Amino acid sequence: MPLLSGRKPLSVALTFIIFFLLLSTAACSGGRVAQAPAEGRFPVPKYIFLFIGDGMGPAQVGLAGAVLDSSSTLAMTGFPVLGTVTTHAENRYITDSGAAGTALATGSKTSVGTISMKSNHRDTLRTVAELARRNGMRVGIVSSVGIDNATPACFFAHNAKRSNYYDIAGQMAESGFDYFGGGYAEGDFPRNRLKGGVNRPDIPALMKIAGYRVVSDRSSLRSVLPGTKCWAYTDYDGKAAMSFEMERKEQELSLAEFTREGIRLLDNPKGFFMMVEGGKIDWACHANDGAAAAHDVVAFDDAIREAVAFSCSHPDETLIVVTADHECGGLSLGNGRRGYDSRMSLLRRQKVSLEGFSRKVTKWKESRKVSFSMALDSVKVYYGLGDVSADSSLALSGEERLVLSKAYSNVPETGAAASGSAAEFASAVTGILNERAGVGWTSKAHTAVPVQVFAAGAGAEAFSGYYDNTGIAGKIIRLARFGERR
Ligand SMILES: [Zn+2]
Repeated sequence: MPLLSGRKPLSVALTFIIFFLLLSTAACSGGRVAQAPAEGRFPVPKYIFLFIGDGMGPAQVGLAGAVLDSSSTLAMTGFPVLGTVTTHAENRYITDSGAAGTALATGSKTSVGTISMKSNHRDTLRTVAELARRNGMRVGIVSSVGIDNATPACFFAHNAKRSNYYDIAGQMAESGFDYFGGGYAEGDFPRNRLKGGVNRPDIPALMKIAGYRVVSDRSSLRSVLPGTKCWAYTDYDGKAAMSFEMERKEQELSLAEFTREGIRLLDNPKGFFMMVEGGKIDWACHANDGAAAAHDVVAFDDAIREAVAFSCSHPDETLIVVTADHECGGLSLGNGRRGYDSRMSLLRRQKVSLEGFSRKVTKWKESRKVSFSMALDSVKVYYGLGDVSADSSLALSGEERLVLSKAYSNVPETGAAASGSAAEFASAVTGILNERAGVGWTSKAHTAVPVQVFAAGAGAEAFSGYYDNTGIAGKIIRLARFGERR
């Protein structure tokens, strides 16, 4: 007798259909279609990387493709797991790096401007980096902006106010973390060291007393031995940040180098946790400077490649999570003026950041030797605008020339207003190139656009889905079993 005969196959099929109908009805009424596996079932990561692109919304990631040649792609977009997170602060829909950094570092919401404390400004919140250290891992913190700025600070410091730079920088020395790399400490600037007419001890001195090697060039950093606590910084601007990637000089260390050297110093059998921030993506977006933002996303991605290279020798024990704290600038790939017409590759013609160009303009005016027509020649060199022999879409209209001419004549030769007016001229030039490329900006501030999460390696599947940014720290803590004895 056959195993299935007569009406039996039909009844079996009907049973299955009814079962699936019931299941799908129950799933739909519950609002959930499928459940991700419990995090306890994932492999335990021993080497954990958290990359934070400050201000890096989905459009910033897309825009970075504009400065890459067509044969290149970003490492992060090749990761197998993709999630999306909401970013709002406890007290404001549009967040800042303090509240968002706290969410990413501790898994808790707080108010804007707060560094890893509850919004009552009394209770401190434990950070994933502190938990990693308590569990015997080495810890590294890297940022392309000041190491005491909000995002990195949220991993090692606790303060009611993100602008208390001196106190925050001092907490670097008290953290016991193994490696700090990237920008300088704004807290060490004279204006921040001064309190009640007295100069407080300088930050490098505090770091040395706490047992850190303090280095500021490539060869010194390379000579530091693994296991030595180290603070490494490179040339920095007036705000303690590294240069924009498009202007970084050869002797200045890149974000990727700080990451690579950090891995070398942190690597040990008990594992490590490393946070790397691409901080200047945000600064470029506040300025609505598409080219500078794209170049800094690529520099950030180069740092991610260092983690990927490391993971090849520890494939089952390395977790790499890449996300952003918030979007900035309301960036759009496409704008109202050009409609369906876009030429993102035009951004490759820009050779200097808006900020860098603005500094040049200030100097030209100071010299009293650079006429408007000479300035326009430089606009052609640094932005390609007016270079019609190369590309007719780079032509400047009569109206645009008039706007630029007015903006240039508004820049005084000396005085406090000079740099602001020079920035307005640079902003007008940058705006024209962005408009031509089809780039759109709706804000000079952050926005609440949800941001992406890219994950690869041990436990990466836990990061898929649509959730709040407070979910990320909790997932890392549960995956790494930080709540248990290791
Ligand atoms: Zn910002």
